[in-house]
Amino acid sequence: MPGSRSSGVTGDPPMTESGPRLLRGGPIAAAIREQVAADVATFRADNGYAPALAVVVVGKDAPSAVYLHKILDGCRLVGIEDRLVELPADAGEADIAAALRTVQADPRVAGIITQMPLPPGIPLRAVIDVLDPMRDIDGIHPLNAGLLSLGYDGFLPATAHAAVEILVKSGIELSGKHAVVVGRSNVVGKPAALLLLRENATVTVCHSKTADLPSVIRSADIVVVAIGKANFVTGDMLKPGAVVVDVGINVVEGKLVGDVEFASASEVASAITPVPGGVGPLTNAILLTHLVRAARNQAQGLVPLGAHSLAVAMPEAR
Ligand code: NAP
Repeated sequence: MPGSRSSGVTGDPPMTESGPRLLRGGPIAAAIREQVAADVATFRADNGYAPALAVVVVGKDAPSAVYLHKILDGCRLVGIEDRLVELPADAGEADIAAALRTVQADPRVAGIITQMPLPPGIPLRAVIDVLDPMRDIDGIHPLNAGLLSLGYDGFLPATAHAAVEILVKSGIELSGKHAVVVGRSNVVGKPAALLLLRENATVTVCHSKTADLPSVIRSADIVVVAIGKANFVTGDMLKPGAVVVDVGINVVEGKLVGDVEFASASEVASAITPVPGGVGPLTNAILLTHLVRAARNQAQGLVPLGAHSLAVAMPEAR
């Protein structure tokens, strides 16, 4: 439960009674999954089929293959069909494009995710030139990125969505707060910053060339860290009482750690997401909600797709 103290089990960082509020993604994810299972059952009853997620992987040993298999396992638990498309490790641009076209020809495939990063030498363009933006449930297509930047609700990158949703679902006040996002990648930092702006936070985005990063972080009420550097942000960089969202996933001596040094940050922060057990579990659950939304859009006849039909499906921009 949000606000509960970790007992130190299941790999959570240890907590003391006087520590910060622990923002755990697991309970929020479980509630989301329960709702997704009900939504999928309703969709199936209404449409006569279960929506499917297709995952395209290049090479069995791809770094993200384990993560992608976990997503497919999660689909099965909520009644979503899963399609795994495994291409050989030497697959080229044309093979990936052909695989995407094949899965997109199946009307039951509501969402598609592709292994990221792509193998060396394969540009992102190879995927986004072909990927149907209405099936882009992890928000990598420029159309979805553009909708987000204009304030429309296209498909969001799931990790960025989870990083902000964990704050919203935990009841953390964002309006009027100074949020500092460390990292500006297209999949995490940039979209997280836009989502925080949408929540009326005042947002500063930092990156590897930011001057005097510690003093910028120290000015933040909310800190979201996504840089891929183990234990980089330490307690002495935080304002007392800051709320910390650690998106980082790093392996150090066989253990998962975040981009924030949990022990020192816990002495200063008022609330913090653990690694593991914070943003990660929520990301996968949120991806499933995107898939259900894509399936509904498609069942309502919003395909074949273009910017117009996507925008029409969205609520008012803000
Ligand atoms: P990325 O594409 O490598 O981007 C890293 C960002 O961090 C870049 O903007 C980079 O700045 C910035 N950066 C690097 N070193 C820095 C430094 N010393 N000071 C300030 N900024 C620095 O990484 P990503 O894909 O966004 O992933 C970030 C982290 O999130 C990784 O640990 C990854 O494993 C994790 N992740 C977690 C999930 C999840 O579900 N929890 C999902 C995806 C990723 P420049 O732009 O200037 O180079």
